[in-house]
Amino acid sequence: MEQRSYQNRKVRRNRRRKANANRFQIRMQKKLVVLFLIILLAFIGLSVKLIYINKVDGERYKKQILSQQEYDSKTLPYKRGEIVDANGTKLAYSEKVYNLIIDAKAINNSKKENALTETLQALDQYFDLDINAISNYISQNANSQYYVAAKQLEYETVAPFQEAKQENSAIVGVWFEEEYKRKYPYNTLASSVIGFTGSDNNGTYGLEEYYNTTLNGTNGREYGYLTEDSTLERTTIAAQDGCTLVTSLDTNIQNIVEKYMKQFNEEHKGEYRPDDDGCSNMGVIVMNPQTGEILAMSDYPNFDLNNPKDLTPFYSEEEIAQMDDEAMYDALNRLWRNYCISDTYEPGSVAKAMTIAAGLDSGKLTGNETYVCNGVLEVSGHPIKCHKHIGHGVVTVSQALEQSCNVALMHIGEQMGKETLMKYLYNFNIGLKTNIDLSGEARTNTLVYNVDDMVASDLAISTFGQGYNVTMIQMAAAFSAVINGGKYYQPHVVTEIKSADGTTVEKVEPRMLKQVISSTTSDTMKTYLANVCTFGTGKTAVPAGYLIGGKTGTAEKQPRGDGNYVVSFMGFAPVDDPQVVVYVVIDEPNVESQPHSTYAQEVAKNIFTEILPYLNVFRTEELSEEDIEQLQKLHILPSTDAEESTDGENNGDGENTDGQTDGESAEGGDPEVTYQVDPQTGNVIDPNSGQQLDPNTFEPVDPKSSDLDGLTGVENKPQDETGDDTTEISAGAGF
Ligand SMILES: [Zn+2]
Repeated sequence: MEQRSYQNRKVRRNRRRKANANRFQIRMQKKLVVLFLIILLAFIGLSVKLIYINKVDGERYKKQILSQQEYDSKTLPYKRGEIVDANGTKLAYSEKVYNLIIDAKAINNSKKENALTETLQALDQYFDLDINAISNYISQNANSQYYVAAKQLEYETVAPFQEAKQENSAIVGVWFEEEYKRKYPYNTLASSVIGFTGSDNNGTYGLEEYYNTTLNGTNGREYGYLTEDSTLERTTIAAQDGCTLVTSLDTNIQNIVEKYMKQFNEEHKGEYRPDDDGCSNMGVIVMNPQTGEILAMSDYPNFDLNNPKDLTPFYSEEEIAQMDDEAMYDALNRLWRNYCISDTYEPGSVAKAMTIAAGLDSGKLTGNETYVCNGVLEVSGHPIKCHKHIGHGVVTVSQALEQSCNVALMHIGEQMGKETLMKYLYNFNIGLKTNIDLSGEARTNTLVYNVDDMVASDLAISTFGQGYNVTMIQMAAAFSAVINGGKYYQPHVVTEIKSADGTTVEKVEPRMLKQVISSTTSDTMKTYLANVCTFGTGKTAVPAGYLIGGKTGTAEKQPRGDGNYVVSFMGFAPVDDPQVVVYVVIDEPNVESQPHSTYAQEVAKNIFTEILPYLNVFRTEELSEEDIEQLQKLHILPSTDAEESTDGENNGDGENTDGQTDGESAEGGDPEVTYQVDPQTGNVIDPNSGQQLDPNTFEPVDPKSSDLDGLTGVENKPQDETGDDTTEISAGAGF
């Protein structure tokens, strides 16, 4: 108080002395002095109180504060939100785990005589711990209060010990620190889409990274304090748990996709390049073209989200031992990155769908044109080849797509001009990010042509998807617009964000960004694309019992002439009202001769075969005997019972000799005969004669006739001429 009056006198003196000074300055100084005084007084008050406490009750307080230190103020960790699929299946969740903490000081200072023995005995009984080590620690670090003896124990492990502790007051100095552990119940499923989280709750890749702050919450805190009569009171500020992400992913579809990707890779593992998987890269996207929702997305290989740094499934112990930090980092990033959104490539002939849609929609193309393909077209002095070097002859617009004729497409490009083509490609979002809600989407703005710089040959090769780069997700979203009535939807994975108590925070409605082409153009394109799969290069992709539409792609990689290709297939079903788009891209299939889109088509066919019935898309086409057998093996059709199969063995009624059935009866086939399918043509092979048979009619197919009518699927045969092109522009196979 003396000090205060002294200070007050000083303030008064100051006031008198500076009475004539600037008023503003005086006010400011006054305020500062008052503030200073308040702070000073607060400190003085606090010090006095502390000195008093120390003197009067020091020992008692010291004891209690120290012994309770760790208990009194602790963080209550929040629980990171879950990631669930469209059916509510948990793909990622956080589970509370417990770290076992030893308070050596509490044990040593316990009033219970047998505290140390009892505590060690209980620890030994309930946990898998090195009790000698703990015993040594307690005696050598008598004052330690925080020693982590075990990490991330599950509740089931901790609970019996806690019960024992309650019953025996001699068990002291052991407490449990709570934290959460991220768990991925499906281990590798959708790994590059989900991403993963370390113990710091920081998402890496995929949804975990993109939605990191949404998934995270806020820690709570528990404070202990002593009341006036020295009893310990607690206040708790509860943690706020993170939000849950509901996604459009479907675990069943994702499983089907991954099964066939694995099958492809295992089939072709080491086939041509001894140390490689079945290809250099592979991606599959399954999406709903009417909403932009992703149903499944995968690249190969997957990794274990519960152990993302484990390279042992992919490299030998020796190889891993030889890696330095940088090599290790590179290997992990290659594994973690999502090929479907992070890698770019030339799309090849799948892009012809966008080129023809642009021609029709702009009115530069009527659809009634015909073109003559002699196998090559000279553009500004550069001969650019068609994949069929002997030429397709006269083709209509639809046939140009069906047979994937590069020459016809180059004519179409010339007809519409570079401005029109580039305007439409831009509207299809080529060169722009799709802004899908996953972390790691590549930018492609520098990987597409600037229309002002385009020369005639640039336009020519652009029409069949060369000369510019895309990501898979760009292509799938653009193609969806071609066949859904012309609407471009922003692709997305999350459909709803829920708070920890289950209430909806945000519904993510489909975002239609633009009308790229008219619905009339889209209808025409659906017909053309269905023709591709009925008559043209896409027949291999057709699942039994369905009509689908689609487009094949075979793009020769840079540098041209090295024989490396990206083969692909983009398909949709049903044709009238597309519900699903399946896009398969295989980068450098590990085979001697790569340029065959059939590799991608077979994978797409397998996926369609299983997901269409699952999505309640009904079969409209007749099933052959072979089809029925295949579908029964996949449990898509119920197996015929014993009696019926006996009937089949003695089949002699001749009713089904053409291999066709009414789709309901399994009679008529010889169950002993298994037909192999020729991967190049999609035809089945007669096991007796080796002759190729049409998979639907079982009529012999004459490969020679295909050059004339183009209807037998033989155009999928190897086209080995691609590498011999010595011109400046080698157009690649492109069918
Ligand atoms: Zn052609």
